[in-house]
Amino acid sequence: MSCDVRACLRPEIREMAPYVPGEQPRDGQAIKLNTNENPYPPSPSIARALASAAETLARYPDPLATAFRQEAARVLDVDADQILCGNGSDDILTIVTRAFVPTGGEVRFPSPSYILYRTLASLQGATFREVPFTDAWSWDERLLEDIDSAHLVYVPNPNSPTGTLISNKDLCALAEALPCPLLIDEAYVDFAPHHAVALTKRYPHVMVSRTLSKSYALAGLRFGYLVAHPDLIGVLRKVKDSYNTDALSIAAATAAMADQAWLKDNVARCIRTREALTAGLDRLGFATIPSHANFVWCHHPQHDAQSLYRFLKDRGLLVRYMAYEGWMDGLRISVGTDEAIAKLLALLAERVGRSGL
Ligand SMILES: *Cc1c(COP(=O)(O)O)cnc(C)c1O
Repeated sequence: MSCDVRACLRPEIREMAPYVPGEQPRDGQAIKLNTNENPYPPSPSIARALASAAETLARYPDPLATAFRQEAARVLDVDADQILCGNGSDDILTIVTRAFVPTGGEVRFPSPSYILYRTLASLQGATFREVPFTDAWSWDERLLEDIDSAHLVYVPNPNSPTGTLISNKDLCALAEALPCPLLIDEAYVDFAPHHAVALTKRYPHVMVSRTLSKSYALAGLRFGYLVAHPDLIGVLRKVKDSYNTDALSIAAATAAMADQAWLKDNVARCIRTREALTAGLDRLGFATIPSHANFVWCHHPQHDAQSLYRFLKDRGLLVRYMAYEGWMDGLRISVGTDEAIAKLLALLAERVGRSGL
């Protein structure tokens, strides 16, 4: 007997393109402005929470991460039974996709946006339809074409890689037009002027996902959560792995959520740097899009984005080069420390000349 393992794979797994995360060099030498991590260490209260949680590790963790849900419920002014926790918000997105999208089904989302949505659809044996944003970076009416064939709509807000934000009024209009669930991915919302948690009280088919990876400086921890109607949260609990968040991550995430003063300071600092980054890029002749996240999308009319990426990489500075079919290619630059951004702007000035100064 012999088994051709490749032939045994589900065809959609064999054929799908893998999701490729941003580079994570392990030598610790590069200045990383490529994966939207926070440039500062997290709240100091986390180290203490981890130390005492370490003593509980002989036991299985709370499958529902109740301590975290209670803390988050207080911060967001919702009930703890409106919250589902996950191993990063990518886990949350997986749970929601598994729950709503059948094999042969369809998901929709605006483009350009988060590439992982394509992977989630493919893993599920579903297709995806990407619909360009309007010129004002809201959702386009074409998102509703043949809407009865869609099983789930993802809207990242603020969006990646553009940093643009759709108003709650436009999100309500979308929710009202949709016959299927809407997942608003708020990975970057702490850097933005408004969020959509209130919509989950108004519409039972609207869900909001969050992560502690960006604004709470905990990308290495892996903790995210979903806010939705309690009945829906109850169903989604059946879909998740029983212990999808561990005792250490629950303790750290709870401590992080309890330290809102840290969050407020960190976000204010990142926003100041974001504005300096945008102004600096504009002065160098880059076209930028005003961002509500902790990164800025840009391209330069006279300089190829991929060679700018390589120029920076050769000098120890990583940014994200991205090429979107049907839109453009460019650089997504994460907000770093003020020193890192000053270094970036100095290198770019060397390369493109200070045309605008
Ligand atoms: C970073 C990111 C996430 C996921 O973050 P996790 O680290 O998995 O919590 C989700 N959506 C978008 C748009 C992101 O950029």
